[in-house]
Amino acid sequence: MSQRHAVGYLYAPIFLAHTLPHHPEHHARLEAVMTLLRESGELDRLAELPFAPATASQLCAVHVDAYVELVKQLSARGGAMLGPDTYINRASFEAAAAAAGAALAATRAVLAGDVQRAFALVRPPGHHAFADHGEGFCLFNNIALAAKYALGDAPDNSTRARPPVLERVMIVDWDVHHGNGTQSIFYQDPRVLFVSIHQLPLYPLSGRVDEVGAGAGWGTTVNVPLPPGVGDDGYARVLDEIVVPLARRYRPQLLLMSAGFDAHWLDELAGMAVSLRGFARIVAALAELSDELCEGRLVATLEGGYDHDVLSYGVLNTLRVLRGESPDVALDPPGPFTDRPVSAEPIIRRVKATHELP
Ligand SMILES: [Zn+2]
Repeated sequence: MSQRHAVGYLYAPIFLAHTLPHHPEHHARLEAVMTLLRESGELDRLAELPFAPATASQLCAVHVDAYVELVKQLSARGGAMLGPDTYINRASFEAAAAAAGAALAATRAVLAGDVQRAFALVRPPGHHAFADHGEGFCLFNNIALAAKYALGDAPDNSTRARPPVLERVMIVDWDVHHGNGTQSIFYQDPRVLFVSIHQLPLYPLSGRVDEVGAGAGWGTTVNVPLPPGVGDDGYARVLDEIVVPLARRYRPQLLLMSAGFDAHWLDELAGMAVSLRGFARIVAALAELSDELCEGRLVATLEGGYDHDVLSYGVLNTLRVLRGESPDVALDPPGPFTDRPVSAEPIIRRVKATHELP
């Protein structure tokens, strides 16, 4: 039996106020998640962690002032579109600042030892947000702020003593879309090992194997662009053969997870073949890594996932696995993908060669 862990969650109703009817990234996603977590009794097994919205000075650890101000102004004026697919409404600035604040507070709570692991159940998602612009449904980059806080780059506004600043943080982004915003923010930063496992071709069309970082950060960006149709076993191999050895070589002090559930075979925005049990296996592999290398410390933020049942059960299973339950008992109402999955082998070979993994 695996270890038991104290796990916290962060949520606030303001996350539902950022919404647009008929848009795939709307409030009902997170509403469905919270309903299942309540009805299943999962919330009673977790610590609810307090948080405040990220302040302008905290947001500016990740974003340029002019962009933070733009989101604030557009929101105050009632809303606007940031490009073809990313909306802002009257509540969006408040919601996005709260989402970023939740990611920061989750990291603070884990580093302070209040809980061992935490999941920020937030909207809007963040991994497509760049320093100077938002796209792909994302306004502020939540996971990037979590990393910047851990590394001492974002101010701590709490009255409590600040936990020790870390030197090495690993972000694993297994949302089906490339984490282009997060990659860009840390592309030259050797203190962050960023690994993205995503479908290519697919929005945002970046995340090729040869995007490996630059300058001092050369080699600390790792992209695993999978062809459509890869399923549970392909993802498990990526974890075993790429993510685990990379982590052992880098020795992160904290594991951060951009958790998106849109690689599921039912998701309409992508073409992967992962099942709910497959997601639970990914989370279990990362949780084990955090036990081995990071004293169990792991912080997750919610990214995509557009089938509401998949998203709800995906989050529930994630929390159960983070608490120490076996991924074998993951709840999986839609069941496994029944066609033949596509092999991840050629990409795994290329990534291993590029990053000199055995
Ligand atoms: Zn996504």
